[in-house]
Amino acid sequence: PLLILWEQLINPLVLILIAAAVVSGVLNKWDSTIAIGVIVVLNAALGFFQEYRAEQAMAALKRMSAPAVRVRRGGRVLDVKSNEIVPGDIVIVEAGSIIPADGRVIESANLRVLEASLTGESLPVDKSTAPLFNEEMPLGDRHNMVYMGTAVTYGRGEALITTTGMKTELGKIATLIQGVQGERTPLQRRLDELGKVLLVLALVIIAVAFSLGFLRPAPNIEDLFVAAVAIAVAVVPEGLPAVVTIALALGAQRMLRRQALIRKLPAVETLGSVTVICSDKTGTLTENRMTVKVLDVAGHAQDVIEMIRQGHSIMGSDDQRLKFETQGQALLVAGAALCNDALLQIEDDNPNEYAAVGDPTEGALLVAAGRYGMMKATLDTAYPRVGEVPFESDRKRMTTVHDLSGDESAAASLNGTSLHSLLGTGSGEYVAFTKGSVDGLLDISTHIWLENRVEPLDAGWRERITASNDTLARNGLRVLGVAYCTLESLPDPDDLPQVENGLVFVGMVGMIDPPRPEVKDAVATSKTAGIRTVMITGDHPLTALSIAHDLGIARNDRVITGHELASMTPEQLDAVVEDVDVYARVAPEHKLNIVAALQKRGHVIAMTGDGVNDAPALRRANIGVAMGITGTAVSKEASDMVLLDDNFATIVRATEEGRTIYDNVRRFIKYILASNTGEVFVLLGTQAAGLPLPLNTLQILYMNLVTDGLPALALAVEPGEKDVMRRPPFRPSESLFARGMWQHLVFVGALIFGTSFALSLLGYPAYDAANHPGVWSTMVFTTLTLSQMGHALAVRSDKETLFSKGLFSNVPLLLAVGGTVLLQMAIIYVKPFQQFFGTASLTLDQLAVCLGLSLAVTLGIEIRKAFLRRADRA
Ligand code: ADP
Ligand code: MG
Repeated sequence: PLLILWEQLINPLVLILIAAAVVSGVLNKWDSTIAIGVIVVLNAALGFFQEYRAEQAMAALKRMSAPAVRVRRGGRVLDVKSNEIVPGDIVIVEAGSIIPADGRVIESANLRVLEASLTGESLPVDKSTAPLFNEEMPLGDRHNMVYMGTAVTYGRGEALITTTGMKTELGKIATLIQGVQGERTPLQRRLDELGKVLLVLALVIIAVAFSLGFLRPAPNIEDLFVAAVAIAVAVVPEGLPAVVTIALALGAQRMLRRQALIRKLPAVETLGSVTVICSDKTGTLTENRMTVKVLDVAGHAQDVIEMIRQGHSIMGSDDQRLKFETQGQALLVAGAALCNDALLQIEDDNPNEYAAVGDPTEGALLVAAGRYGMMKATLDTAYPRVGEVPFESDRKRMTTVHDLSGDESAAASLNGTSLHSLLGTGSGEYVAFTKGSVDGLLDISTHIWLENRVEPLDAGWRERITASNDTLARNGLRVLGVAYCTLESLPDPDDLPQVENGLVFVGMVGMIDPPRPEVKDAVATSKTAGIRTVMITGDHPLTALSIAHDLGIARNDRVITGHELASMTPEQLDAVVEDVDVYARVAPEHKLNIVAALQKRGHVIAMTGDGVNDAPALRRANIGVAMGITGTAVSKEASDMVLLDDNFATIVRATEEGRTIYDNVRRFIKYILASNTGEVFVLLGTQAAGLPLPLNTLQILYMNLVTDGLPALALAVEPGEKDVMRRPPFRPSESLFARGMWQHLVFVGALIFGTSFALSLLGYPAYDAANHPGVWSTMVFTTLTLSQMGHALAVRSDKETLFSKGLFSNVPLLLAVGGTVLLQMAIIYVKPFQQFFGTASLTLDQLAVCLGLSLAVTLGIEIRKAFLRRADRA
């Protein structure tokens, strides 16, 4: 907080005010000094309050983005916040996890961890449970320990937490990384520059005003000095920087309410200029509520869904269970359940229901197995897992090795048979199940399992399998294949990947994953908003295309596969990147190529990702979008925004919000600067005309802070314009003054100047200002204030009328305007205020003149908008 306060005071604009106060003191005008001092304090307090609120809001967002950790506690597996981990917890980690505390590895399945943040070692290190024998070992050699803040890049494992928080190795060096500076957004940087320009302008205008006054007969140097300071103060938009910060932070909070968690403030702004959204399919465009629909073995398909509709349940009694139609299906389902990292757990609140924990694709397989009476837990006990090659989105498959020597009691759960009899093996052997994409499996399979015999996988079979796979995929199903091989002995862990070779293909499982209902509309909305949607998925090209057509993403039947991407030159990719909407069978590293090609064509890209390997693409994209539910901690760390509901529609809503916020920032910049322009020219004009200043320093400060500041704050929450999602995105490189901004400033500035200057010139003799300047000056002051109130209401929309959005859709603005008008009346009519501001009571006639002139300003702005609307229609 102290730092924020200090920053309020060392602002160059505030320094000018302090200088003015000191000068007034030197000139023995203590009332001015005190008044300016009050204003400086008020300004600092307001700025401090806003910045502090903004920082609190961002800190709250940061706390929310702390990743969840999977732990084993009291025999249950649950997800907890990483700051709730205590020593003694067993945490379960897998590729993509960030280690939440220091711990001893108690299980490692090829667990590899990148410890660069602690040791500087850039390659991942293998972790094992083997004891270490040296007492003093450098951090990098402690292979049975994992450390907070490091990232799992491969494999799976469990660790018993030993130390947490500041006592961890990371905690010991945490002081080094705690003071991360908040990034300034492009808009804030441009405003900083604008501030500097205005400062120079202020100095120039002081010089001009000073010389203008000097040319008058018998100049009073003291008055001149005060006048010059007043004008300089009028140039400076005191409230602006704080308003921008709070607008962005409030915007981030509003986005949160719509399920988009902003991790980096600049993203709020960049979202408004997104031109392409590259989205994952599974879970983002679809519900990731996978349900097994079809079991397909050797051309024999069984529709599971149809049977479930007839009332089958998990672990139901015998007659409620699904029945396999062939032995092959039993093997297929057993393989899919064994080669599986999800687990079925009895639900907390309903002991008769099971819920899957883990990857939804795998969970669906376990649920299906359960409906056939095969429980994963029973299978795992009968055929324990003794080795594995984890799933990787590059390979699109995984393998687990199981010991067949165990007890045969699980046979019952295999619908009466056992793996031994299905596979024709003796005990003391091992079986490796591989599950993954069918196209990939066919490449490494040499045989096919037919009822009770194994035959070579000849061209005919390959064709038949590929054809069924395509048919399933064309219907939008996600297809996984299962294959196996038997092993005489257990291979060395390092040689395990070679097991994925010469496999016996068993069959495939087709799962439906319905598109999310709201996505179709979201895609259509983004289309009218000039935002293209591109699907990038690891799934089968036909599955991808089918869903892309359903959702209105695909404009043609073109699909580029990861395979094709790998052999394309950057030039070839550039040539097609505008036309292709679907990329399938893509590995994470290809995403980077797609982002690069699109960026080269000037696109601003929001890219989703969930895995470890997606991190580089997330960083490279203009907005990296991570998944709040299914995303790995590593992908969240690399992202700018997290979708709390994993939903594509949320990205589109966030871009809409981003555009609205950008519009609003422009709106109050317009509002504040137009008023300053008007004021400064009134002051300069009167100086040039040889009149005294119609406004004193206090009145000017009051206008800049209160009449400009309050409504500007309210404009930050202005609802979006009707056409926000019907116009193209703005270019991130566009000037602050582009798209009608400077024209608005010139026009409104001229209007405000014109009316108030006319009043100054004509009113000077009319109200006998030479003898009683009070009434004349109060009228100019009041006209300016009321003009700004009309401007505040009119500026709510760029082109639509003042009433188009409904008068009550921005209540804070109405309160700000109403409050300011009341304050103005108090300043005119209440004695102590009159003394402070140097004002005088106005008659009703005089007040009517002020009101009339300010209405003229409002009317002028509305007439201009009518012309703009007309030009648009033409
Ligand atoms: P998406 O981009 O749709 O999220 P993924 O990258 O998750 O696709 O998956 C790509 C392919 O990898 C899937 O089509 C499937 O063939 C395979 N696959 C996905 N999950 C698993 C898994 N748990 N086990 C084996 N194979 C999988
Ligand atoms: Mg996925």
